[in-house]
Amino acid sequence: MKNICVFCGGNIHEQMVTAVKEHEGEVFIVENVPAGVCTQCGEREYNATVASKLESILKERKAVQRKELVPVADFNLA
Ligand SMILES: [Zn+2]
Repeated sequence: MKNICVFCGGNIHEQMVTAVKEHEGEVFIVENVPAGVCTQCGEREYNATVASKLESILKERKAVQRKELVPVADFNLA
């Protein structure tokens, strides 16, 4: 994985993040995902292994620990 952000040229730091993903209309929150995060713009990148594991988690509903109610807002009503 590169250590320079492709968007802003900032530094990428490896850290654990909470990924929010949508799959077939359902929102998944996946905790403890290793990602490269730009210290400047916050852009995240996942390496190929992590990206395909994330995909299989969503498709097969793997490792679901609990369900949480997620607030859903309408941007235009704010
Ligand atoms: Zn950046």
